[in-house]
Amino acid sequence: MNRKLVVGNWKMNGRSASNRSLLDALLASPVRGIDTVVCVPSAYLGQAGALLANRAIGLGAQNVSDLSDGAVTGEISAGMLADLGCSHVIVGHSERRACFGESDDVVVAKAKAAFKFDLIPIICVGETLVERDAGAVEQVLQRQLKPLLESPDAGLLGRMVIAYEPVWAIGTGRSAEPCEVQAALAFVRECLSARYARADRIRILYGGSVKASTARDLFGLPDCDGGLVGGASLVAEEFLAICKAAAAVSNNCSVNE
Ligand code: PEP
Repeated sequence: MNRKLVVGNWKMNGRSASNRSLLDALLASPVRGIDTVVCVPSAYLGQAGALLANRAIGLGAQNVSDLSDGAVTGEISAGMLADLGCSHVIVGHSERRACFGESDDVVVAKAKAAFKFDLIPIICVGETLVERDAGAVEQVLQRQLKPLLESPDAGLLGRMVIAYEPVWAIGTGRSAEPCEVQAALAFVRECLSARYARADRIRILYGGSVKASTARDLFGLPDCDGGLVGGASLVAEEFLAICKAAAAVSNNCSVNE
């Protein structure tokens, strides 16, 4: 088991004043024994970066361009994110796959762009409800992971984080059952182990309507190294309770940074 990682995904929410109160509240009650990252909207990376500098909570972005700096209007490069103090970036979130047509290949290109600047990509995978009902969970995960596993860059595999997020559980209040989650996480790890000898060290997170009341059961699963938390990360008390649940099941974890 790896040291737990809890990542908050603020999505397209926040304003300067509410961001400050949320981060102040999180910083006032540090949760020890786990790693915590908040992925804030790009418009507020500067603000959050200043508030989090040299503190125990890491800064992450929600998207990155797969292209280098230059004539690409409206995009944000990995170099810019690194310059703003980000340590992590979410890539391939289902909302970006659905709304902006990001393909499995583009997702891997983004992960590679992030990796070049020492950013840790949090690569999201997961099936839709239709795919789940068709019994195609493993097939979907295999397809989404394929370009990643075919990448010759073993260094990328060693440093990335995978977030298993069933699309039907995101923002719906309907979390997957722990046994379903464990089966999917174990399958992801098995796929990774075919290409990377130390797949046991890769952090695999669960995401999808995680709440304080469900976090302990989910994070205590054998293949669960933490969570990617959307809605609940916008409420300081709830997010802190989720982080504490991760710490509570972390007692016997080794530290694999
Ligand atoms: C997410 O946005 O990645 C997510 C898991 O959202 P929620 O926790 O709100 O389902």
